[in-house]
Amino acid sequence: MSQNTQEIFDAIIEQVKVLDPANSRGWFEELRVKDFSGGQLEIICPDSERANFLQDSCNSSFTRAAQQITGYLVSISFCVDGTVKQNTVAEVDPSGIRLHPDYTFDNFVVGPGNRLAHASCIAVSNSLGSTYNPLFIHGSVGLGKTHLLHAICRETKTNNQNAKIQFLSCEEFVNRFIDAIEQGSLAEFKSLYRTVDLLVIDDVQFLREREQSQEEFFHTFNALYDNRRQIVLSADSAPGEIPSLPERLVSRFKWGLVARVDAPSYETRVAIVQKKARLRGMNIADDVAEYIASKVKANIRELEGALTSIYALASASRQEQISLEIAKEALGTQDNENKKISITDIIKTVTTYYDVKITDLQSKKRSQSITMPRQVCMFLARNLTDHSLEEIGGHLGGRDHTTVMHACSKISELEQSDDKVQSQLTELTRRITK
Ligand code: ADP
Ligand code: MG
Repeated sequence: MSQNTQEIFDAIIEQVKVLDPANSRGWFEELRVKDFSGGQLEIICPDSERANFLQDSCNSSFTRAAQQITGYLVSISFCVDGTVKQNTVAEVDPSGIRLHPDYTFDNFVVGPGNRLAHASCIAVSNSLGSTYNPLFIHGSVGLGKTHLLHAICRETKTNNQNAKIQFLSCEEFVNRFIDAIEQGSLAEFKSLYRTVDLLVIDDVQFLREREQSQEEFFHTFNALYDNRRQIVLSADSAPGEIPSLPERLVSRFKWGLVARVDAPSYETRVAIVQKKARLRGMNIADDVAEYIASKVKANIRELEGALTSIYALASASRQEQISLEIAKEALGTQDNENKKISITDIIKTVTTYYDVKITDLQSKKRSQSITMPRQVCMFLARNLTDHSLEEIGGHLGGRDHTTVMHACSKISELEQSDDKVQSQLTELTRRITK
């Protein structure tokens, strides 16, 4: 690679940090150019998890950054080593599950609110099926449940490369179940989920009012439990508090260990801010971390959002070191008139416009009258805020990042092809940003 290519690539990375601070990471320094010719930039990533992350969350910011730096349209692809062909979608892990590179035990800060949950997750990963079965983690949104579930899967894989793992959101489980019924492939579905060593299902509150899926889940649970296979579940409330969940499931969910995650203490919040800053390759002084922790209290997603705002302001003004002044300026603007757009603003405006209930958007309902506004919320949140796909999914009922990605590309296509949708989006954007 010529020195010129390296310089251009370094400039592109710097520009990505400005364009997409929420998804910038310190390890971008480890990225290498495989080839940059004919309008194609192929980037080598350290491993498949990071390649997947870049493909899912950073493709558009890399494309925009490359265009801004070079002045022409560049097509970006990510590969894991020098052998993957151009334009190949980042490979999926051989076990078939996609883990987020950030969500490791190392990156998880332990404090009084999550100590039990964290310890039980570690215990389970070190001895599947024999400590706490099932392990049921619950707590409100943005407190690290999904993070812990990813960490369990990764640790299990590290301990035993041959372990059969299935990790999916409950929404995905339900959708795959429905697909299996429609396609007449129920036998394959059953054997896939009933024969794993570790089944991890995120956000099981989605099972409520889904009687047929509950039934299937019940049998899956029993098959795994009887064979001493590990089951790990998460939900937004304790088993007994999930509405309309049948007693036989509630009681099974309590058979092992039920651990709650609570909002983090001040000290934990400071430590989390410092950890996240390091992950993003930012330098942050103690007083800045303390300031952020004192401003944002309830939810770690919002803590990350605050960090993103500060980082955005610092990188826009090309400052390596983030000062307290910058932090105050970035977070201060959230209180004044020129306020930052929040996902909550977007959801409120969209639900009023389409006359639907917020709870419906956050529910499992799949009717067109609900799906469309939900996807519009995801699309607008992606375009008008700095929140990551995970964060956006979290505000819309705990949907995972692939669902949000799908929604964004669907609405973006409609915006191009359907004048009615285009004018709705224009009107909604006007109302949200006014
Ligand atoms: P939940 O599934 O409970 O809604 P997530 O696991 O998606 O929450 O967490 C939201 C964000 O907060 C993620 O980016 C996650 O890494 C971060 N987070 C939550 N708890 C912690 C923690 N204790 N230490 C570090 N990061 C955390
Ligand atoms: Mg979650």
